[in-house]
Amino acid sequence: MIDSFHYILFWICILGLCLGSFYNVVILRTLSGESIVFPPSKCPKCGNKLLFWHNIPVISYILLGGKCYFCKEKISIQYPIVEIITMLLFAFTFVKFGISLKALFTLFWISCLIIMTGTDLKEQLVDCNIAIAMGISGIIFNAVTSGMGGFINSIIGLLIGVIILEILARSGYLFTDKRAMGEADTYVAGALGAIFGKEIILVLLLGFISSMIFILPIFFYNQYKNNNKMTCILGVLFALSVVIMEAAWQNYYTLAFLIITGIALAYSIIKNIKKVENRNYLPYVPALAVGALIFLFFIV
Ligand SMILES: [Zn+2]
Repeated sequence: MIDSFHYILFWICILGLCLGSFYNVVILRTLSGESIVFPPSKCPKCGNKLLFWHNIPVISYILLGGKCYFCKEKISIQYPIVEIITMLLFAFTFVKFGISLKALFTLFWISCLIIMTGTDLKEQLVDCNIAIAMGISGIIFNAVTSGMGGFINSIIGLLIGVIILEILARSGYLFTDKRAMGEADTYVAGALGAIFGKEIILVLLLGFISSMIFILPIFFYNQYKNNNKMTCILGVLFALSVVIMEAAWQNYYTLAFLIITGIALAYSIIKNIKKVENRNYLPYVPALAVGALIFLFFIV
């Protein structure tokens, strides 16, 4: 006999898979500018309309072997990945918040984050209207659940998010003639501020830490490829000095080593940033989304 908790969880997973499938369409059509509702799904290569059994989340991808049924063109791995991630996040939301107003709003916020992360990763393009909708829903949620105090907290969070991201984005002008991040990141940080209130500071911090995990390896790989061996060597030395300080000896010698390698690394990085031209924005929405998710599921 299956209990009602697992019964509901099962249907939440199905809902996550189906909506994930829909979000794939939204991501692609946000980028192509097509209508989300009207054109029926078709293969981008051969134009054949998909049959009903080609639209089943994840299962179709496996049955078709990751290829178009008609022309055998490879189907992007993005489809099953977005479907599975949506399913997992929906399941986490139900396990964490049960059936509640908080769960309902969380599902909406997660959906917005998935779509914006998808378009940001693919083409560094984000529909700011989605962030605005998210922000308004955050203000409504806080006002409904916590009254006037919640409303004020929400507005303060929104301002903190916008101000911190704008300062960081404009710090790009110190080294280059460009913003360090796109405008959409400011919208998303503001929306998250409206949702989390003053706690946005912690959410942003979690976002920055997680972004380093995937930005730093790419940065050092590019330095290596462009023959900036010095930056790489300094990066390794700095990491080494942090490990030595943390794991073994904390004395004035190791501290001096840490400071010297840290300053040399920072100098080397700034010098090389100035050299790089036509640098694109970093896709930063994914980092903000990861920060928000860690906060939602592991900290609140
Ligand atoms: Zn095809």
